[in-house]
Amino acid sequence: MQFAPLEPKVVLGIAAHPDDLDYGAAGTMAGFAEAGADIHYLILTDGSKGSDNSTISSAELIKIREKEQRQAVKAIGGKGVDFLGYPDAELQITMSLKKDIVRVIRTIKPDVVITMDPSMLYSANRGFINHPDHRAAGQAALDAVFPLARDHLTFPELYADGYEPHKTKTVLLVNFDNNNFIVDISKTFDKKIAALAAHASQVSDIGATEQWLKAMAGKIGGQAGYALGESFMRIDLQ
Ligand SMILES: [Zn+2]
Repeated sequence: MQFAPLEPKVVLGIAAHPDDLDYGAAGTMAGFAEAGADIHYLILTDGSKGSDNSTISSAELIKIREKEQRQAVKAIGGKGVDFLGYPDAELQITMSLKKDIVRVIRTIKPDVVITMDPSMLYSANRGFINHPDHRAAGQAALDAVFPLARDHLTFPELYADGYEPHKTKTVLLVNFDNNNFIVDISKTFDKKIAALAAHASQVSDIGATEQWLKAMAGKIGGQAGYALGESFMRIDLQ
């Protein structure tokens, strides 16, 4: 599929957990930042369950993971990150979640939104069930982009508070298995690894992580003639 070059000025990444966007799209985000775009992250949950360290409390983990995500956003040249703080592993597709996302979309006014592909229920190829938070995050983000952020009569209380309607031009859905759009991350792969290294509570061996990510990025990039790539389903909204 042929697409016009993607040259966003403002990009909003929306994901369930700290580290999701860095695994899926940090190379792409870094490339957009280098080209002059403002990059923002919106993390929907508090990341309070993601640890196998039995001595750590959820409260400690929330603080650690926020700090790690802020460092990762810096590593890719991003501007900032917001946290909605919904409980990890319990994310539900509710109107209040969608309203919280709409508020951020109407504030940041992105021309590109990057989120998880909610149609990804499992990958038999790669042997995993997609985390329910990832699916909920992608679905709520898509619903927020269209139609909820677009119409002033949706959430009139937001409009009354000065949140003007906003139309996002392009959505990129992170999808490792199915794609219609591959971004060349050959030059930004090091920044992606720096972003992932920031998530020290999640990544115990950054060398090993780099190795498997490089192998995967090589396979994905090879589909489009790039040394390293990240893959998406791209939707240009009419
Ligand atoms: Zn996750």
